[in-house]
Amino acid sequence: MKENTQSIVYFTLMNLPDFTSISSLFLLTMIFFVIITGRYFLVAGLFYFIFYKWFPAKFETRKINKKKYKKRQFEKEIKWSVLTSLLFSVAGTITVILWQKGYTQVYTKIDLYGWLYLPLSLVIFMLLHETYYYWIHRWMHKPAIFKIVHKVHHDSNIASPFTAFSFHPLEGFLQAIFLPVMLLILPMHYYVIIIQLTIMTFSSVINHLDIDIYPKNQNNVLTKWVIGAAHHAQHHKFFKYNFGLYFTFWDKIKKTER
Ligand SMILES: [Zn+2]
Ligand SMILES: [Zn+2]
Repeated sequence: MKENTQSIVYFTLMNLPDFTSISSLFLLTMIFFVIITGRYFLVAGLFYFIFYKWFPAKFETRKINKKKYKKRQFEKEIKWSVLTSLLFSVAGTITVILWQKGYTQVYTKIDLYGWLYLPLSLVIFMLLHETYYYWIHRWMHKPAIFKIVHKVHHDSNIASPFTAFSFHPLEGFLQAIFLPVMLLILPMHYYVIIIQLTIMTFSSVINHLDIDIYPKNQNNVLTKWVIGAAHHAQHHKFFKYNFGLYFTFWDKIKKTER
């Protein structure tokens, strides 16, 4: 049955029109844009309503910064995030075209690499993504670069769920190119790509929530090795610590953890 579904998906994808015509490029980018902005509003909005609107009293002790948000902060964050989503959509379109032309390592039949490779490829991708982001993030904090590329993100001294994709387009570009480039070299099943993109969205919203939802115990595996709101809030406050994306290991190795 599963094999059958996969064959149908494969058949459908392979019989799609050639995407390189202008109208197809536009349509495909718009479809991605609806999905990516929809995902942003859904996840950021869900966390905002749960933690800030519906049950704020419940999480008061876990709120990291007690100060109020800047005037119109959410509006600005949403505006930048929508722009970032557009860049991610273009990256998505480029990926589909590269895939259709046979340049990517994206595969549709699980048997090709086996079941074990599904979680393994996810872990490999996330470790490489962590490494890429940690180092470009350090680079973006060089004063001359910071002003142009990364300041927009740090305008949110106190992060909110809406800060998740709030980047200047130059930073958005640096973030958007990673997945298509990786897919040229690392075989990934399209299920894994969808899971990875979902993890990325949730992780970014959780890290910018400014309410710590992970266990307080410092020795807990999650608190120790996975970045959460408490960890990333330190980055938005002090700028020179906690540069990581999902995991804390680079900050530990390079002694940039606070
Ligand atoms: Zn941030
Ligand atoms: Zn930064």
